[in-house]
Formats: sequence, structure tokens, C-alpha cells
Amino acid sequence: MGLDDLLERNRTWAAYMVAQDPEYFIRHAGGQRPRILWIGCADSRVPGEQVLSSRPGELFVHRNIANIVSYNDVNLAAVVQYAVEHLKVQDIVVCGHYGCGGVRAACQDRVVGGYIGDWLMIAGWAKRWVEERLKKEGKERLSDEDFLDLVVEENVRLQVKHLSALSMIREAWDHQPGVPRLHGWCYDIRSGHIKVIDETETGVTPAAAAAATDAAHQSGVPRLHGWCYDIRSGHIKVIDETETGVTPAAAAAATDAAHQSGDT
Ligand SMILES: [Zn+2]
Repeated sequence: MGLDDLLERNRTWAAYMVAQDPEYFIRHAGGQRPRILWIGCADSRVPGEQVLSSRPGELFVHRNIANIVSYNDVNLAAVVQYAVEHLKVQDIVVCGHYGCGGVRAACQDRVVGGYIGDWLMIAGWAKRWVEERLKKEGKERLSDEDFLDLVVEENVRLQVKHLSALSMIREAWDHQPGVPRLHGWCYDIRSGHIKVIDETETGVTPAAAAAATDAAHQSGVPRLHGWCYDIRSGHIKVIDETETGVTPAAAAAATDAAHQSGDT
């Protein structure tokens, strides 16, 4: 399968947690009371739990490309509703990150097809707003990296604004003004630090469009794996993927052979 090392790490971790605290997984099986809802980028370098030095149970998490809050995203809406109405989470963090590939793609001038392009159109508004602000301030000659940093921050403000407009948030504020509290943060992959973005500076302008995607046209890649995590034991069980019909074994084997490094 090629992922044995990850499963071995899981077994080691579960054993370590039990050794530290025998009741750890027993408590988890009893329910969850996360402190915040984290809406972050799907980028593998920005896992909310690790960068906040948190443990399982502390963060209720939703992640997507470029940490976007879309009005028609039923997935996000259900997560927010569950967090606010059922888990009684009082703080929601939208956390972007500097060097975000999704935001960089949204800043391109040409629009490409596909789901990624459609999705990133939502973040395109942030680019237009930054361009207008810089023009007004006579600071148009920023480096690409500095410009991207500003758009990343603006995208966080924009998504916080979207969040504040969701009906379930407005209804929650009708019942208890200001709760849940909304926070806009930016994680810096260059330093590991989080910057709090000034949420009072919000601005929305007409959408600028764009996105780029390079699709990998490789048969059988990515390989799909079905796992179940047991909150009662901390162990991961591999579900028989042949029953789901999602992973052509031959393709997986061929790609394994092509990528074999021998050190796993
Ligand atoms: Zn990102």
C-alpha cells in the first residue's frame, strides 16, 4: 500500500498517549467540547492543531483551498451550524497563510477552467481591493511577494466578512450579540508565527477573476485510501478499499514501483 509508515506512526502515537494518560481515549469517546472553530487553508503546511500546539478535541476544523467562506458551500455551512448551535463554540477563526498557492493562483490575470478556478474566483475580490488601495496610496510597485502578502491578508478579511453575513451567524448574534466572536488570522510559513489581522478594515470590491491549475494526468494517482479512526482507542483501521471500488490495485502498484525510494 505504501503508507505503512504512517500507520506505524499512528500505533506509536496511540500507545504513547495511553502511556501518558490511560483515560485519554476514554474521555474522547464521551464527546467533544472544542474551544474554537478553525477555518483554514487545506495547505499541508498549515495544520491548525500543530501550529496552535493543540491536542485532539480542542479544535473543530474546516479546511479548503485558500480558506474561503462561500455563501453556497453547504459543507462549510453545516460545519459552522454544528459548531455554533450544537457544540456552542464561541470563537471562529479564519486563518490564511502567507505564501498561499490558492491566493497566488487567484491573483493570476488569466482565468482557467475547472473546479479550482471556479472556487478561487471567490478570493479574487481580495486582489482587486488591494490593487485599488495601493493605487490610491501610490504604492503600486510592490514586489510580487509583498503584494501576495497583502492579498492573503485581504482574503482573510473578506472571508471573515462573508462569515459575518451567513444567516446562522446573524441569527446567533440576534440571540447573543457578538457571539460567536470572529477572528481573522494569518499564519506565516516562513516563521511559524500567527499575525492577527485587523478585522475592522474590511473592504469588498467587484470580483477580479483568475486561477491556475496544473492537473496531473497520471493514471491511478492519487491513490485513494479508506481509513477509520477510533476515538475510543486512538487507532486507525484500514477499511477494505476493494469494497469501495476506488483504488485500482494495478494502478497503485505501478505507481508504487515508479516512486519507490526504498527508505520507507
Ligand atoms: Zn493556502
